[in-house]
Amino acid sequence: MTTIASQSAVFHRSLHSDPISVVGANGNYLHLSGGGKLLDATGGAAVSCLGHANKRVKDAIISQLDVVSYVHSATFGTDAAEKLAKALVESTGGEMSKAYIVSSGSEAMEAALKLARQHYLELSPPQPQRTKFIARHESYHGTTLGALSISGHKARRAPYEPMLLPNMSRVSACNAYRGMIENETEAGYVDRLAKELDDEFQRLGPETVCAFVAEPVVGAALGCVPAVRGYFQAVRAICNKYGALLILDEVMCGMGRTGTLHAWQSSLINVTPDIQTIGKGLGGGYAPVAGVLISRKVTDTLFAGTGGFSHGQTYQGHPVSCRAALEVLSIIQEEKLVQNVAAMGEKLEQLLKQLVLPLPHVGDVRGKGLFWGIEFVNDKTTKEPFDPKENVATNIHEKGLTDPHNITLYPGNGTVDGRVGDHILLAPAYNATAEVIELIVRKTAAV
Ligand code: PLP
Repeated sequence: MTTIASQSAVFHRSLHSDPISVVGANGNYLHLSGGGKLLDATGGAAVSCLGHANKRVKDAIISQLDVVSYVHSATFGTDAAEKLAKALVESTGGEMSKAYIVSSGSEAMEAALKLARQHYLELSPPQPQRTKFIARHESYHGTTLGALSISGHKARRAPYEPMLLPNMSRVSACNAYRGMIENETEAGYVDRLAKELDDEFQRLGPETVCAFVAEPVVGAALGCVPAVRGYFQAVRAICNKYGALLILDEVMCGMGRTGTLHAWQSSLINVTPDIQTIGKGLGGGYAPVAGVLISRKVTDTLFAGTGGFSHGQTYQGHPVSCRAALEVLSIIQEEKLVQNVAAMGEKLEQLLKQLVLPLPHVGDVRGKGLFWGIEFVNDKTTKEPFDPKENVATNIHEKGLTDPHNITLYPGNGTVDGRVGDHILLAPAYNATAEVIELIVRKTAAV
């Protein structure tokens, strides 16, 4: 019989150790049962965008509980869901026409894939042969089987490989540090990646491809890697050429995290998706909530077709989650926090380049807004990664949690495709001050 060391009744990720017990949280700090506190530099996995214990969000949740806590969205609507959807659609400048609200990023990705399929089934004339999706290596789109099937995260896919969906293929990620060859210009790199994607469309048969799926700034799988300028325009042009949809997964990098409310609104990305997913910072950790923003192109097809989406979930448009998300979004907008993300992001970049990049085993620091990754290498010149068995990122994360560091650093284990290397991710709250940013960088450098 296996001995299970954990005393916790919760079935969490490790049965061999107990989770660290958090008994309170405030602003940028987590309070632990033993009396210690941790500087939360990551908001979990880029979730707690307003920090902890925000009174406005708490009051909004309580007020919603006084109105209605739950109704089934197939029959009933609520003010909370309606107002959130309207605010989200408006935040896209009208580029998106409807919002579909669910509870997690994985659910949002499942819905996005099915929506793309339904779009082609109901298009006039229909294109039922479009059953394939192209995504990218070193990507993460979620844990459910559909979302995992398009993910390029080998380690997370591995145990379930025989159960994953067919018709999902992948091309190279846009990763300047690892992908650009010597003396290559950004334009040359973009051309090379665009050719690879075009070739993949050709290989699959362009008329069989439903959509290309990508994260504008790659999160957990690579550690905050923004696309190179021009990449998304090239990708959009190829999707247009072959009549396929562009799905942008902004679950991690969206909702203000990278310095614009939607990552595609930045001059670096500068394309409009046909379908967009959001999550994490949408609810800021105050409620489980995620969503799919759907362009008029897709909603027009569905209105002219069956008039609906053959997909439904019990907690779709959950009133309390919607109310929490609406308050988070209002605070972001009223307190001009996206502007703070951009300003503090510049400070974070400057300090990371000054204090962390020169360290002996730091190969690269990269990111956008308040979303930065630090990649560790065994050799700075050759960029040789550490042996994944050394668990470098996990060890740094664990060391960060101990005295005197007392900081959360989100790790990416060096097992993605066995070649990318270890990284940690920083994702401070959008309202972080210059002092907090400096403390985060100084503590990170010291770990
Ligand atoms: N997409 C991206 C880019 C993510 O980073 C994640 C989670 O980390 C997901 C989708 C899945 O979201 P969730 O964990 O809320 O299901």
